[in-house]
Amino acid sequence: MVGCSGSMAGPDSPASCYLVQTDDSAGRTWSLVLDLGSGAFGRLQRHIDPAHIDAVCLSHLHADHCADIVGLAVWAKWAPGGPLAPIPVYGPSDTVSRIRQLTDHGRGEHINAVHGAHGRTAGGAFAVRTWKPGVTVNVGPFRITPWPARHPVEAYALRVVAPSSTPGGEVTLAYTGDGDEGPGCEAAARGAGLLLAEAGFVEGRDAVRGVHMTASQAAELAAGAGVETLVLTHVAPWDDRDVAVRAAEVIFTGQVYAATPGAVHRVEGAPAGAAE
Ligand SMILES: [Zn+2]
Ligand SMILES: [Zn+2]
Repeated sequence: MVGCSGSMAGPDSPASCYLVQTDDSAGRTWSLVLDLGSGAFGRLQRHIDPAHIDAVCLSHLHADHCADIVGLAVWAKWAPGGPLAPIPVYGPSDTVSRIRQLTDHGRGEHINAVHGAHGRTAGGAFAVRTWKPGVTVNVGPFRITPWPARHPVEAYALRVVAPSSTPGGEVTLAYTGDGDEGPGCEAAARGAGLLLAEAGFVEGRDAVRGVHMTASQAAELAAGAGVETLVLTHVAPWDDRDVAVRAAEVIFTGQVYAATPGAVHRVEGAPAGAAE
């Protein structure tokens, strides 16, 4: 499983976007994109041909998590060899209208709004499906479960389970999306090999509740959920990632990383981090 990072785009990072990959038993690589925030689609192309994206999973519809769906829509429609078959997009209940706002002035050219199991209607870039809290969806060997997050808009923490290289085993990545601490992110994180947790707020400075976590809260979530590795993300460009990591290390005794663009984290027992 692989990641690139961010809150809003900064001088050295796009906004939120994480590429998660696993191989099935036949050796086919399956690829999920968790969020596609502003500035992310270009950077994502360093890691995957967009034609190979199996699904996009949107935690919520703030621009720093979905704005670059515009670029993927254009790619899907116009890239050589296209148009691509509609790419499944999972998201909150207003995902269709949000993509319409972003891509085509509300005409809906880039969407097939599909709420059933299948929907590869020709003509649109996306087949949109709506998250149902606690209801798992399957994308190839991935099982993805959305849990409601505490954020000013409809938002989800995502629990992504995939087979491990051990026969019959599995690995879990949890992504908080955006949100304050609460039962949703706890359900997503329980026992995860890797927790990708947002730390958009700073302890002692940001007192408003129901929006973001601090690094300390993310560490408490990681410790309480028994995760192995914590990756802090969504640190604002004006804040210091290293300060966030140190704050988390006071509370969480496992490995802590700051998400950085191009970093690769393998969820398979041994923690690994390799940055560009
Ligand atoms: Zn955000
Ligand atoms: Zn948000």
